[in-house]
Amino acid sequence: MALIVQKYGGTSVATPERIGAVADKVAAARDAGDDIVVVLSAMAGETDRLVGLAKAVCDRHRPNPREMDQLLASGEQVTVALLAMALERRQVSAKSFLGHQVAIHTDQVHTKARIAAIDPTRLRAEIDAGRVPVVAGFQGVAADGDLTTLGRGGSDTTAVALAAALSASECQIYTDVDGVYTTDPRVVPEARRLDQISFEEMLEMSSLGSKVLQIRAVEFAGKYNVPLRVLSTFVDGPGTLITYGKGAMESAVISGIAFNRDEAQLTLVGVKDAPGIAARVLAPIAAAGVEVDMILQNVARDGLLDFTFTVHRNDYAYAQEIVTAAAKALGAARVESDAHVAKISLVGMGVRSHAEIAAKLFGALAEANIRVRMVSTSEVKLSVVVDEKDLEEGVRAIHRAFGLEQGPVRIEPRREGTKAH
Ligand code: ASP
Ligand code: MG
Repeated sequence: MALIVQKYGGTSVATPERIGAVADKVAAARDAGDDIVVVLSAMAGETDRLVGLAKAVCDRHRPNPREMDQLLASGEQVTVALLAMALERRQVSAKSFLGHQVAIHTDQVHTKARIAAIDPTRLRAEIDAGRVPVVAGFQGVAADGDLTTLGRGGSDTTAVALAAALSASECQIYTDVDGVYTTDPRVVPEARRLDQISFEEMLEMSSLGSKVLQIRAVEFAGKYNVPLRVLSTFVDGPGTLITYGKGAMESAVISGIAFNRDEAQLTLVGVKDAPGIAARVLAPIAAAGVEVDMILQNVARDGLLDFTFTVHRNDYAYAQEIVTAAAKALGAARVESDAHVAKISLVGMGVRSHAEIAAKLFGALAEANIRVRMVSTSEVKLSVVVDEKDLEEGVRAIHRAFGLEQGPVRIEPRREGTKAH
């Protein structure tokens, strides 16, 4: 008998009928012999509705964050109680709980609190008594006893944290898609569902656009080694299991293509080459809380260099102001900027250590006549910045070039031409 944490998102509990369907699924999982702990989101659209009410009352002023938490936490209180009732109707013994009732302790940072500790004693007792605990996601309690919430999408994190605290054998995230795909099927209809992906790859996939899971939940699952499965509430299937990467050590496995439409690029042209340029430009950017994504410093020519970086498009105007000031201070020739660039990332274990992967990617883009503006690599990704207008065609070209419509692709290490030293 295994212990499984099942989390159902807002669309899965959007109506009384759907709550009934979730109750049927939970009952079936219990009948199959497993112990189940359920975590729920608020009904779809409810948290947005509550945010809207707060805005209306506060007349554009920022609502008090403590009161915001009191308000937002109410959405999940409704769904957990309703599901517990629906389970009881099906002869499944169940009880709903708010965050503080099952000791989900957080820090004091209202509206974006972090979980500090969970005492699983009460949940354990409920499970041992044969009941299904139905826990409100997204909320906890601070040391002073006040309610807190974990940031939008935080129910995923609640589920993973409970799975870790209870040493569950799996944390299942039920949502409206049936898994993680090789890329966004709206861009590439042939995209394939992945059976499995590693935590590291999933972090790249979710931070770069595949918004299936809250990124914090994936980090949390990786840290505590909680096997995480994304699957559909509405269509039966195995979903995608997110776990530690196995695979042959020397080969690379390409899992998919993530992308990000909303980037902007800024370049300081013709800066005198001297130590500390990057720091002079980026320190005020960082101080302003603007996140820098890619950074590129070209090789100096005639003692001059170009320094380029990208930011999220929302931060573009602000970053441009800062860079223009820095350009003046450093005596740069000019600032060149483009608010319409996009990033495409090929995601897979070991992509960096196989030159033929980069060659194939650049070949595919060249054939599609797509100019590459910047490149960066890590152990699990190879990213390029392109013009925004080229994004979709670029994703399709790369997906095709690697044959990802067949699913993940294994690249074996090359043997020929290897010199013995
Ligand atoms: N209801 C919250 C939100 O919409 C938390 C969640 O659904 O994960 O952000
Ligand atoms: Mg969500």
